[in-house]
Amino acid sequence: MRKKIVAGNWKMNCTFDEGQKLTSEIVNMIKDERSKDVTVILNPPFVHIPSVKKLVGEISNLFVGAQDCSDQESGAYTGQVSAKILNSFGVKYVIIGHSERREFCSEGNDLLANKVKQALQNGLTPIFCCGESLDIRENGSHEDFVTQQLTESLFDLSPEDISKLVIAYEPIWAIGTGKTASSDQAQEMHAAIRTHLANKYGQEIADGISILYGGSCKPDNAQEIFSKPDVDGGLIGGASLKSRDFMDIIKSF
Ligand code: 13P
Repeated sequence: MRKKIVAGNWKMNCTFDEGQKLTSEIVNMIKDERSKDVTVILNPPFVHIPSVKKLVGEISNLFVGAQDCSDQESGAYTGQVSAKILNSFGVKYVIIGHSERREFCSEGNDLLANKVKQALQNGLTPIFCCGESLDIRENGSHEDFVTQQLTESLFDLSPEDISKLVIAYEPIWAIGTGKTASSDQAQEMHAAIRTHLANKYGQEIADGISILYGGSCKPDNAQEIFSKPDVDGGLIGGASLKSRDFMDIIKSF
């Protein structure tokens, strides 16, 4: 059985007080409401990590993740944060290859391959993001584009390592736009991603990898999207900043 996962990507939002309030509300809701079969991950900006971790405490299905890590182990890389440092702060997951980092920080598939390796070497689970822009979707090459992202960043990994990954399909045209992919569009791409993984690593490994959908996922569309057989949860941006909305998405399975 694949893990069901809902991860909140706070992006560059929340002051200290806002982050504390949001985390406390989510912690209380998770304690009160049934959600134990869903793995929930909060991915705040780096500086929030210790205080969010403290509030989260020992809830068995709630984890703290980061939004990025360095491709380097340690050293003179001003402003970067290594997977090793994140691990030492109790971080378990790290988002790698989000489209905003690909676009605004010029992160390419080769660099992302090294980030994935750093994360795995330091005991973190990468949430590896892929997804196409609107023009690629409109010219019909979205499947080729996404499978190439996976091939170039992930296909050097051993079967054992690829099994540890979570993949997030986030069509860029659906991120922050309010225009979500339809559940059929999501299913089609998730199935294509799983087939691509199966062709390289075998069906059993592909069937064990959770593939999340991201892009304007909200309480009113999560249930429909999560009902699809190859959709194993969501990577949530805007709606993860509102505790009630985030909790309603968690309860959408
Ligand atoms: P939105 O949910 O705000 O569209 O963002 C999705 C996303 O980029 C999550 O990583």
